[in-house]
Amino acid sequence: MELTFEERLAGLVEASLDGRDPGREELAWLLQAPDERTLEIVSAVSRVRFAAFGRRVKLNLLLNIKSGLCPEDCHYCSQARDSKAPILSYPMVGEETFCAAAERARELGATRLCLVASGRGPTEREVAQVARGVEAVKAADGAMEICACLGLLSDGQAEQLGEAGVYAYNHNLNTSESFYDAICDTHTFADRQETVGRAREGGLSPCSGALFGMGESDGDVLDAGYALRAIEPDSVPINFLIPIEGTPLAGVNQLTPQRCLRILAVFRLLFPRAEVRIAGGREVHLRSLQPLGLYLANSIFIGDYLTTKGQAAEADLAMIADAGFEIEGGGPPQEREGELAEVALKQAVLD
Ligand code: SF4
Repeated sequence: MELTFEERLAGLVEASLDGRDPGREELAWLLQAPDERTLEIVSAVSRVRFAAFGRRVKLNLLLNIKSGLCPEDCHYCSQARDSKAPILSYPMVGEETFCAAAERARELGATRLCLVASGRGPTEREVAQVARGVEAVKAADGAMEICACLGLLSDGQAEQLGEAGVYAYNHNLNTSESFYDAICDTHTFADRQETVGRAREGGLSPCSGALFGMGESDGDVLDAGYALRAIEPDSVPINFLIPIEGTPLAGVNQLTPQRCLRILAVFRLLFPRAEVRIAGGREVHLRSLQPLGLYLANSIFIGDYLTTKGQAAEADLAMIADAGFEIEGGGPPQEREGELAEVALKQAVLD
């Protein structure tokens, strides 16, 4: 007898809660579900989120420590070699900027600071510079979790970063192995897998996710999901393409808020206990459905992205509170909280 929609959905959720593979065919079915069933999907899959994370939302602040001038050609990236996007280009920032960003993270209630540098991979000098910046941050606030994202790692670099106080290393697989050539010619999917392996072997917590909306098929979404599952990341950022003018993917817009939610549901089911983070493109693609994303993901970036603006941090904090979630680590210091709520209220009245 054919299973009903509700029964198939419940089967997926039970498998994920039991730590079993929910099954590629079933996940493909979920991705294809009609838009009008999206709320039921969010509601059912939220059980997996609540089982591991309760109502907690982890906040991450991103600092672009080196921008532009990249020799690589990732088609989605405004900092790529062939990009014509008008972005700021600058060499690696100094320790004081690392510390100022950590201070801002603290003020907003973010517990992780993500340090992102453009480029194929860091030079020895750059690793030493990041290490100095991280040591300065940790000296001021030992509890601030640091994630570095510096591109492809060479032997020994993960260990150096770890010694300086870096906790995690981000390197996304981005898409499926078979679609990879369509989005980048200068390095391979295998290069990316290797760097995630180096980060783990070097003692760093692996953070690796994907980017959707670049023309990939449902099969690519699932291949990317299973390739990530195979490398067992501790955190999985899910990005939705911001089609930046001046990049080869300008004008590409294949996502709807409902599709983004189904993709997030698939990743929550594949990663029941890993941190699933809604990363770039949240505001552009989930739009007014952003709060529903919190029922699937347990982590977001607060503030701006690498070269694009995010929603005002105050609006993010208000969204989390309004939806009844709690910020991991307690949120902004109490005196800031009142101030931020006031800003959010004024913005809502003025906008
Ligand atoms: S994603 Fe990273 S490696 Fe690729 S072009 Fe952008 S900065 Fe360079």
